[in-house]
Amino acid sequence: MNAPSQEPPITAERQRAIVAELRTVLPPHCLLSSEEDTRPYECDGLTAFRQLPLAVALPENEEQVVAVLKACRKLQVPIVPRGAGTGLSGGAMPVAEGIVLSTAKMSRIVAIDAHARTATVQPGVRNLAISEAAASHQLYYAPDPSSQIACTIGGNIAENAGGVHCLKYGLTLHNVLRVRMVTADGDVVELGSTAPDAAGLDLLAVFIGSEGMLGVVTEATVKLTPKPSLARVVMASFDDVVRGADAVADVISAGMIPAGLEMMDRTSARMVEPFVCAGYDTDAAAILLCESDGLPEEVEEEISRMRAVLERSGATAIAVSRDEAERMRFWSGRKNAFPAAGRISPDYYCMDGTIPRRKLAEVLTGIEALAQQYQLRCANVFHAGDGNLHPLILFDANQPGEFERAEKFGEAILSLCVAAGGTITGEHGVGVEKLDSMCEQFTVEEIAAFIAVKRAFDPAQQLNPNKAIPTLDRCAQYGKRKVDGGRFRFAQYARHYG
Ligand SMILES: Cc1cc2nc3c(=O)[nH]c(=O)nc-3n(C[C@H](O)[C@H](O)[C@H](O)COP(=O)(O)OP(=O)(O)OC[C@H]3O[C@@H](n4cnc5c(N)ncnc54)[C@H](O)[C@@H]3O)c2cc1C
Repeated sequence: MNAPSQEPPITAERQRAIVAELRTVLPPHCLLSSEEDTRPYECDGLTAFRQLPLAVALPENEEQVVAVLKACRKLQVPIVPRGAGTGLSGGAMPVAEGIVLSTAKMSRIVAIDAHARTATVQPGVRNLAISEAAASHQLYYAPDPSSQIACTIGGNIAENAGGVHCLKYGLTLHNVLRVRMVTADGDVVELGSTAPDAAGLDLLAVFIGSEGMLGVVTEATVKLTPKPSLARVVMASFDDVVRGADAVADVISAGMIPAGLEMMDRTSARMVEPFVCAGYDTDAAAILLCESDGLPEEVEEEISRMRAVLERSGATAIAVSRDEAERMRFWSGRKNAFPAAGRISPDYYCMDGTIPRRKLAEVLTGIEALAQQYQLRCANVFHAGDGNLHPLILFDANQPGEFERAEKFGEAILSLCVAAGGTITGEHGVGVEKLDSMCEQFTVEEIAAFIAVKRAFDPAQQLNPNKAIPTLDRCAQYGKRKVDGGRFRFAQYARHYG
């Protein structure tokens, strides 16, 4: 978690000029500029970092988005796109000299095409609202971040969001067919297509996960998936985290792809059980939730296979949901883990890294050792099937030094992920939070390639500047700081920067 660099002070005159220009392209109810009105936009879900924007534009349609971007281009004003602000890496945090462009007023479902199994939606549509709109056709939108009640499809596209069901049904990237977006110049561009294939370079894949730095999504067409006729979940307890972690790999290597495969450690189960009363085994060192969906016969067969594998892997107790209400109850704790953290700790810091599944046990053991080292509690509740970890570091910001320790602990977890052959983010993006970790993950040459892509879309660096991609200077500084056992750990940076 690294604070962005200090920006030069903004003069009131500059702010007035920007607001005046925006007033010429937006109706009064679509522009906020008083401190009282812009304060709610000062941060996203990573609340440790805050910055008031100069103004907040709330366009109601694509034409207004174009007009805002053109006005900002004219005055060279940075723009931070924003959906629901549930991001956890500071991606939607404003920049001091810029404005926020919120898609809150663009929340219309444009069309549900049951025949093509697609939904075309505006960017501010909530993730869950797509499934709700498609429910009458027995269809739903599969990627289901735990924040799905609030987060928007625009934010999901920018972060390539994942969720419990992404192991079987794919991430946002695999479920978005087409994106309409506005470039920093104010040009409208369509990426992808509603046809099964699109000609030309696959810029849609480049765009998804680009954290609001390449364009502003104004419309998206997403795939809808038939609702399975039955879903059941197996809940298995383990008396040892390593055995639980190894069971995850055992399930997958037995040839099954569960509809969800999630893990909670004891701290997490004890944290959520009083909150949701799901019936979790709070004595277990780890709990696995393993879901099967499909036709009833398929589900019955797969559930008994899952059961057999989990028993062989050392499960100490197994329960299978008997009906839909019980299935939802089993999942309720997993879905509410983050809010439940607030019950046992004044503050928490949610990390996000991904590792190869076979390394789960090793990395979880490493996190436990780091918790001892940093003298902080850590709850692990995560998308185990995807190898996507979400360690929740529990701390109290009012205790001197705890926030700094939590930061260092988090950075050390990401280093563990990289060392295990994984990545520093799974689904929460880089934002402002993981800029230094990007320097650890990628070589200077790779980062230079990312910068070149950013420049190709946004030469003036106006869209969400200083997010997601570190500058080469920053990496050089980071490399210099990371002296490891007297050996310069990032020798490649020395080549460029001495
Ligand atoms: C309790 C909780 C649980 C969560 N669980 C999950 C989870 O299971 N899986 C997961 O992946 N994430 C999860 N998240 C993180 C977050 O919800 C996702 O990253 C989500 O995709 C963010 O959507 P948003 O609408 O809130 O976007 P914001 O936070 O507003 O923005 C996120 C990024 O998207 C950009 N952006 C937003 N709208 C647009 C647009 N129209 N055009 C271009 N760029 C845009 C912003 O600039 C920013 O960089 C969770 C967060 C919370 C608080």
